[in-house]
Amino acid sequence: MLNEFRMQLPIFQFRDKIIKSIRENQVIIIAGETGCGKTTQIPQYIYENDSNLRIAVTQPRRVAAMTLAERCSLEKQTKLGQLIGYNVRFDDCTSKDTQITFLTDGMLIREFIVDQQLKRYDIIIIDEAHERTVQSDLLLGLLKNLCRKRKQLKVILMSATMQIEKFANYLETEAIHIIEARTHTVDVYNVPIRQQDYVESMVNTILQLHFTQPEGDILAFLTGQEDIEDVREILLERMKISNQEKQLEVKMLYSALPPEVQMEAFQKCVHRKVVLATNIAETSITIDGIVYVVDCGYVKIRSFQIGKAIDTLLLAPVSKAQAEQRAGRAGRQRQGQCYRLYTQQTYERLAKYMLPEILRVNLLSVILQMKAIGIQNVLTFDLIDRPDMELMLANLNQLVKMKALDSEFNLTQHGKNMSSLPLEPQFSHFLIKAYECGIYDLALNSISILQVENLFYFQRGSKENLQKILSKFKISNSDHLTKANILRKYEETQNKKSFCKENSLNHKTLQKAISVKQQLKDYMKRITQKEFEKEDYDKFKQVLSESLMFKHAFYSPQDQAYKLKQTNQLAYIHPESVLFNQKPKYVIYNEVILTKKVYLRDVTEIDEL
Ligand code: ADP
Ligand code: MG
Repeated sequence: MLNEFRMQLPIFQFRDKIIKSIRENQVIIIAGETGCGKTTQIPQYIYENDSNLRIAVTQPRRVAAMTLAERCSLEKQTKLGQLIGYNVRFDDCTSKDTQITFLTDGMLIREFIVDQQLKRYDIIIIDEAHERTVQSDLLLGLLKNLCRKRKQLKVILMSATMQIEKFANYLETEAIHIIEARTHTVDVYNVPIRQQDYVESMVNTILQLHFTQPEGDILAFLTGQEDIEDVREILLERMKISNQEKQLEVKMLYSALPPEVQMEAFQKCVHRKVVLATNIAETSITIDGIVYVVDCGYVKIRSFQIGKAIDTLLLAPVSKAQAEQRAGRAGRQRQGQCYRLYTQQTYERLAKYMLPEILRVNLLSVILQMKAIGIQNVLTFDLIDRPDMELMLANLNQLVKMKALDSEFNLTQHGKNMSSLPLEPQFSHFLIKAYECGIYDLALNSISILQVENLFYFQRGSKENLQKILSKFKISNSDHLTKANILRKYEETQNKKSFCKENSLNHKTLQKAISVKQQLKDYMKRITQKEFEKEDYDKFKQVLSESLMFKHAFYSPQDQAYKLKQTNQLAYIHPESVLFNQKPKYVIYNEVILTKKVYLRDVTEIDEL
C-alpha cells in the first residue's frame, strides 16, 4: 500500500530523470511544491538505484530530521536506526548499517570538523535550502569547496520553489529540476481590520471554522510554544462551555515538544483536528488532511538587530513567500481555504523574502566552527550572502577574548576544545573553565539542564506555585545554580516520579537532561582527564560571568527595569526566574527573549560588572 502511495507522489514521474541527472552532474538542484515527495523519496530512489551509496540528508530542525527518518523507515519497512536513521544533537539514532541519515545542518557541520572530506558520505542532500539558515548557507559554501577536492562527491540542493536561480548561480550548476505538482486552488481571506491580539483572533477563527465549515482539518500557524499553549487552553475551555456536539481535537507541533507528542499531530482523528504549529509546518513537514489554514502572520526569528549587540528571539511579520507557503498547505488534497489574521494592506507591505539568517544573527558559533574546519580567512570565505564585515570582526575579537583564537585569529587548543563540544561557545568556554577550576559537576548540571526545554509542568491556573517551588531549590540568587540543584536533587532521589509530581517538574525533561549530561561528559573525556570537585558557588559565578561577558545587565531604578550593559536596552527578569521578585543590582543572563515584554531568561546575580 505504501508502495502505491509512493508511486502516486508527483515526484515519481521524475525518478529516472533525476537519477540520470545525478549520474551526470556533480551538483543538482531539485525544487518543488511542499509535499511533492522530495525529502522522503529522493534518498530512497538513490538507494534503490545503487544500494552501496551512503546518503546524508540535512534538515534545519531536529523534529523534521526525526519524523522524516521515521516516515522513510516505515515506507521501506525497516526499523528506524538501521537502514535509515537520524542524528541530531544529543540523540544519535544510526547504526553501522545506516545508509540514509537524516541529520540537522548543525550536525553535518560538526562532522566537517572531524573529517573535512566527509568521506563517510557519497551523496549529500541539503534540504530546505530556501530557509537560508546560517548552517545550511555555511554547508553550501563548504560543499562548494569540497566538490573541487572530491570529484566523486555528489551534492543535491532541495528547496521550495523560490530563489532557485540564486542557488544555481552560486553553485554553478545548470542541472535544475522543478517538480510540478498538482495542487488545488486556495481561497485566501484577510481580516478587514487590524487585529489587536492574534491569540484571541486565532481562537475565534478556529471555532468559527469548526462550527460553520464542512469537514477537513485545520492547520494554524503560530509563533512558538507560548502562544500555541495559550490558544490550546482557550480553545479547550471554550469547547467545554460551548456544549456543542461537534468535537474538536487539538494537537500541537513545535520543536521543543517531546517527539512522541509531536507525532500525535500526524495521526488521523475521528473528529476534526486542529494542529497548532510553528513555521515548522510551512515546508519541512506535511500533515495530511488539511483543508483550512489560519495564519497569524508572524514568525519568531533569531535576530541580532536590537542595538546590534545581542541575540534576541523576536516576533517578526512573515515574508510574502512564507505567507504563500502557509496558504499552500490548504490545497494539498482538495480546494482549500486560508484565513490570514492580518489585513490585505499589511500583506502588501510584507517583504518578499525573509532576510537570510546569516545577515541578521550573531555569528560567534559559526565563526568558531569555520575556524575549526580550517578556514583560514573567514572574512573572505565564499558564502551565498556575505555577512557584515564589522560584525564578523567583532565576533573574531570576542573569540580572542575567550582565548579560542590567538591575536592573529588562529585557532588555539582551547578553541579547538570549545568547538568539539556541542554547545554555544560561551557555554563550551564555561564548561572547560569550570573543569579547570574544579567546579565541574556543578557546571555540568547547570548546562545540561539549561539545554532542555519545559522543565516545569503546570496544570492550568497553578503557575502561581512556581516561585514556591523554585524557593525550595534556590541557591545564591542564581537560576543557573538553582537549576543545577534541581538536577542534582533529581539524580539523588530514589522515587523520581513522585519527586517530579511534588515539584511540578517534567519527568521526561529531567531524564533528557541526565542523558545530555552523560553525553557532555563523554565529550569532555576526550578533552581532559583530571577530576576533583569542590562546591564553590562564588567561583561558579565568577567563571560564568566571564563566559557570559557580553550578557551583563544592571538594575536602573528610574526605569524600574534592567539595562543591558552592551546596548542600554531595557529588559525585565523572566517570571520563571528565582530572581523574579527581587531586584539585584547586577545580573548575567543566558538569553533575551521578546514576547509581550523584553525578558531576561536564566539569570544569576553577580557582585559587579
Ligand atoms: P516534500 O519534501 O517534497 O515537501 P515529503 O517527501 O516530505 O515532501 O512528503 C511527501 C508526502 O509524504 C507528503 O505529501 C505526505 O503525504 C507524506 N508524508 C510525509 N511525511 C509523512 C508522515 N510523517 N506521515 C504521513 N505522511 C507523510
Ligand atoms: Mg521536504
